[in-house]
Amino acid sequence: MSACRLEQASEHVWWFTPDEATDRPALAAVAGTRVTALLEVGASPAHTASFLAALAPLGLPPVVVAVLTHWHWDHSFGGAALSCPIAAQRETADALALQASYDWSDEALDARVADGTEIAFCRDMIRIELPDRSELDIVLPQIVFDTSLTLDLGGVRVEVVPVGGDHAADSCVMHVVEDGLLFLGDCLYERLYPPEPGLTPATVRALVARVRGLGATYAIEGHDDVLLDAARLAARLDDLELLVKGTGVAGESS
Ligand SMILES: [Zn+2]
Repeated sequence: MSACRLEQASEHVWWFTPDEATDRPALAAVAGTRVTALLEVGASPAHTASFLAALAPLGLPPVVVAVLTHWHWDHSFGGAALSCPIAAQRETADALALQASYDWSDEALDARVADGTEIAFCRDMIRIELPDRSELDIVLPQIVFDTSLTLDLGGVRVEVVPVGGDHAADSCVMHVVEDGLLFLGDCLYERLYPPEPGLTPATVRALVARVRGLGATYAIEGHDDVLLDAARLAARLDDLELLVKGTGVAGESS
């Protein structure tokens, strides 16, 4: 069963903690006075449905949109459990369309690992999280934006800001402005896919500057079970800079 817990992170934000057993990431709901937005779509319909079930007793305003941080399967394959549209930047939508064109049988997944299109870690997690993929429905974003997106939920705004980074070039962060909370997705993690897994110094420096510039008081990372306060976020960003200082490519486990 899922180890994910629902916790209130700030005045308007509830988050569903990650579960490393199948690489389920953190999910969040931001509730305004009028409507609610979901940050992330989840790894599978089961994951997403368990989040919606956990939210139900709160009686939040209606969920009108779910926004993707990046295309990776564990953040995007749960769309079939939603009745609201999904929003994503164009690069994310294009990458997901490619995923949706693939054959998801065990044999095809193995072949993609063999040719370097997929990595063994994701294959293994997909097999556990989505054991039966015969009816896999990868829902493509219905709302596509090119630069940034601002959601006004009634008394609270979410700014969706593309930041890129080594982990995924399409990474966006979501800034819940009134709460000073930054939902980071996986943007600070290393690149997992070939040709160059790891972190590249110039990319890390630009990303860290971008994230620092948002001046958040709290932050949530995609696969970390901790709500970071400003001091811990600052330390996390300092550590990243230190890690790539004077190196060509540095590795980081995540
Ligand atoms: Zn990712």
